[in-house]
Amino acid sequence: MILKGKDVADAICEDLSRRAKELFESGTEPVLAFVRAGEDPADIAYENAAAKRCGRIGIGVRRFYLPKDCGKEKLLETIRGINGDPSIHACLMFRPLADKEAEACACGAIDPAKDVDCASPVSAAGVYLGSGGGFAPCTPEACVEILDHYGIPVSGKHAVIIGRSAVVGKPLAMLLQKRDATVTMCHSRTERLEEICRGADILISCVGRAGFVTAGFVSPGQTVIDVGINTDADGNLCGDVDFEAVSAIAGNITPVPGGVGSVTSSVLAKHAIQAAEAFCAAGARAGSDCERI
Ligand code: NAP
Repeated sequence: MILKGKDVADAICEDLSRRAKELFESGTEPVLAFVRAGEDPADIAYENAAAKRCGRIGIGVRRFYLPKDCGKEKLLETIRGINGDPSIHACLMFRPLADKEAEACACGAIDPAKDVDCASPVSAAGVYLGSGGGFAPCTPEACVEILDHYGIPVSGKHAVIIGRSAVVGKPLAMLLQKRDATVTMCHSRTERLEEICRGADILISCVGRAGFVTAGFVSPGQTVIDVGINTDADGNLCGDVDFEAVSAIAGNITPVPGGVGSVTSSVLAKHAIQAAEAFCAAGARAGSDCERI
């Protein structure tokens, strides 16, 4: 089975449109802020796709653009402004930033209640301690949404993750463990990588190298989730997985494009709605001068 991201995203968004309407009717327009320092084409592409999706759901978008070298103070001023603005319920700051010190300070400053992509240490603690507080990062959660949508069992299964980054691999391991998977994390120093991967029920690649996962990594019946976003030799968008070779063996597989990436922005929108709902539940009411798409 090809695990198409669009079907998952559509299912998530149908529910969100209803919830956005309910919020609006009760006097709150849910609003998501994007904070982008610099002009990374991948960030711009994601921002535009996510803004379009938010617009279709009924989530307002505000964009805060800063120069790549804006410095710590300017970035912090922007984040604090968003924290203190009751008409903004959610905030996504694009990472990584060129300025690591500024990034760390800004991540620490984001109000965890508005931190919809797990930038703040408070949100990360929720994921790593399994306390459920704060929002998980959108991409790892998108992987879990795909498994759930297609009814692929996780509990008791062996999930192998290739990649241990703080934004994808590590939090994904936590989310899968929370769902009672037995998780093996692999990385660039892992020995017998192909053998370990062949033993997985669910194999998730988060490496960032086109064609990395070949037929030798998979066994019949496996579910393969491809998180990678790369370009092939011809400049086309592709994942980590050699789709043609692997799909001939695996039981289920996500395509790239049209897989995890298309679910990620829906998870972001879901978090924005949840943040606005929590804001309303706390008794506040927000006005808005946001962009409408
Ligand atoms: P990253 O920080 O570069 O991490 C890559 C990971 O792959 C590292 O843990 C690295 O191991 C591991 N790795 C590299 N070469 C390896 C090898 N030969 N064997 C085994 N492991 C190896 O990348 P990232 O930020 O996690 O992103 C990974 C991919 O996901 C990228 O293509 C990115 O564009 C994509 N992505 C997609 C989405 C989405 O929505 N679909 C969102 C975010 C990222 P070490 O730790 O040992 O170096």
